[in-house]
Amino acid sequence: MSYKLPDLEYEYNSLEPYIDEETMHLHHDKHHQAYLDKFKTAIEQTPLNGKSIEEILSNINVVPEAQRSAVRNNGGGYANHSLYWKIMGPNAGNVPEGKLADAINDSFGSFDEFKKKFSDAAATQFGSGWAWLVVNKDKKLEVTKTSNQDTPLSEGKIPILNIDVWEHAYYLNYKNKRPDYIEAFYNVINWKKVSELFANAML
Ligand code: MN
Repeated sequence: MSYKLPDLEYEYNSLEPYIDEETMHLHHDKHHQAYLDKFKTAIEQTPLNGKSIEEILSNINVVPEAQRSAVRNNGGGYANHSLYWKIMGPNAGNVPEGKLADAINDSFGSFDEFKKKFSDAAATQFGSGWAWLVVNKDKKLEVTKTSNQDTPLSEGKIPILNIDVWEHAYYLNYKNKRPDYIEAFYNVINWKKVSELFANAML
């Protein structure tokens, strides 16, 4: 398996006004690319080169110690952003349907309660990091947050939705107002894609 920067499945400007074109260019073309490049440099020095990024991050302790931090941080950055682009899209802002909607109601009580939990996780992540909706080992939905580029994959959980709360994700448009970015983010969540990821995670 080779490691590649995924193309966006939509235009850079198509998430406006919620996420601006310049942020998308910098974030995808520069930040994500840099994580990928540094990950490749690190993983090439290990026998794990060529294994899927998910497999590597799920077994991070198998990575030789000399490269482990670099793989954790940059491999995490590579994988986390690949998911982030995928679960966003233009003309979104709808609500989940079908089995995912049922599972959200089961785990959180309602979509609004889920939203509150997810927003709260994103807002209270101190410093850089991510908030997540994951399928845990018991095949239940869970909201969680991680620091830096850490991923729930390393805790045996399968991520199906994430929000990047590093300042580079929102600062150009929202400055210090992280909560405004979080609220706007619901307008770009592609719930169809999240449902597909949920279905795969439940297999
Ligand atoms: Mn980012």
